[in-house]
Amino acid sequence: MENCLFCKIIAGEIPAKKVYEDDLMVAIEDIAPKAPLHLLLIPKRHFSNCLDMAEQDETTVGHLFRVAGQLATERGLSEGGFRLVQNNGADAGQTVFHLHIHLLAGRELQWPPG
Ligand code: 5GP
Ligand code: ZN
Repeated sequence: MENCLFCKIIAGEIPAKKVYEDDLMVAIEDIAPKAPLHLLLIPKRHFSNCLDMAEQDETTVGHLFRVAGQLATERGLSEGGFRLVQNNGADAGQTVFHLHIHLLAGRELQWPPG
């Protein structure tokens, strides 16, 4: 997808601190972290958010969640906990319209979020 920031990061056209990659996805450090640990889990196939998902994307989204658990466990978060967030549309605060899951941890996270 032209002019998509995350497609450019996946293609290596824009640098990012990549912490994980496989055939379906990458995980990178957020450029403006909202918690001591703030990763973004991004499918390689472009779709804007859950409103734009095709049936073929279901497996990938399940994979994103499983890898999120794996990355959290590797970082010692399985006991204390962590948060996964996925914003859909401007009112929810989505600013990059290529689906991604935020993994946040390392501080007390308020619920409900603001
Ligand atoms: P959204 O608001 O769409 O749910 O999340 C987009 C996230 O992408 C934000 O947390 C923002 O800080 C992050 N972000 C924006 N531009 C860049 C960038 O160029 N590199 C990285 N690594 N993260 C970015
Ligand atoms: Zn994209």
